[in-house]
Amino acid sequence: MSIWERLVGQADTVQLLQRAVADAQDVPAGPGMTHAWLFTGPPGAGRSTAALLLAAGLECAAGGCGDCANCKDVMRDLHDDVVRFEPQQLQITRDEAANLIKLASRKPVRGRWSVIIVEDADRLNEVSGNMLLKSIEEPTPHTIWLLCAPSVEDVLPTIRSRCRVQVLRTPSWRDVAQLLQHDGIERSMAAHAARAAQGHVGRARALATDEASRRHRHEILRIPLQLNDLPACFAVAADITSAATEDANRATALLDDRERSDLLQAYGEGATGVTRAKIERLARGAIKELEARQKSRRTRAVRDRLDRSLVDLLSFYRDVLMLQLDTGMDLINEELRPQVAQVAGASTPTRTRVRMDAIERARGRFESNASPQLVLEALAVELARA
Ligand SMILES: [Zn+2]
Repeated sequence: MSIWERLVGQADTVQLLQRAVADAQDVPAGPGMTHAWLFTGPPGAGRSTAALLLAAGLECAAGGCGDCANCKDVMRDLHDDVVRFEPQQLQITRDEAANLIKLASRKPVRGRWSVIIVEDADRLNEVSGNMLLKSIEEPTPHTIWLLCAPSVEDVLPTIRSRCRVQVLRTPSWRDVAQLLQHDGIERSMAAHAARAAQGHVGRARALATDEASRRHRHEILRIPLQLNDLPACFAVAADITSAATEDANRATALLDDRERSDLLQAYGEGATGVTRAKIERLARGAIKELEARQKSRRTRAVRDRLDRSLVDLLSFYRDVLMLQLDTGMDLINEELRPQVAQVAGASTPTRTRVRMDAIERARGRFESNASPQLVLEALAVELARA
């Protein structure tokens, strides 16, 4: 499999990247190549895959063969010349920006290019964004910046105006299913997961390979039939919140512990004659700062999970609307057709649209600092009343 087949449903982007890689072979590079890119598109469409592919294509002597050590190491995130920065907090900090600038000034050790990939470049704020400007505008000749963000509008204008923007679109579920099958997932599971994930490649893979993800999605899709009275609405809101919180805590706990023990070690833990109490006194400020950072990362993780749940819930009402309007289109949740039909029969297209709008509004509220449980309680009540 050539590396380019990993970017499904994005033929024009693949063509553009292949041209960039070809033009990068010339000295100076041809017009298809540029030193700063911004990949945008809906979550899961493949923005970071596009960035990784361009990096692999540039590092590989054959322009992205998929078999050499350069290609494999880039795709596994193990290449010395390719840095992939995934912000863990709501905003990219001054220290993180300073570190990226330092990394961008390094000479490549294995190949011709030093590549800096910034996931979620929309989390650059005025301070960290301004710090990166100069390096993105005029990087050292061997450095390439690859930024990823949901949309161009989400990125600071000063940053995006210095990048070549490439927009990815949502791949069809059939394209995603084919990729999963290629990776060894059985045909009907691949189709089910790809449909449920609605073009989100990573989500489809998780649903196809992880029983807990499937179970959780199933729980979410039962909600429309559970909202019978007020106590039920509150119970549903509490259940979703606690499931998301537990899952996020599980996902971040290991990293939290490791960061804390690294920090204490840096302050001399384990050295002879140094007591734990003394280290904790010396490291107090740094520990506090670390805990604040970890808390912000957990908040983000909880919100991401809640948002995913609402997208699943939205897919149910989208199916309801498809039946009510008698469109004959495929259902995303084909396996729940009887339940979808039950809700469709008990309401009208107008009421379904009101419910879908309520879910979209709730998703927007997560982005502000509203309490997730309150947002979900209000949503559950709106869904029940619509
Ligand atoms: Zn290669």
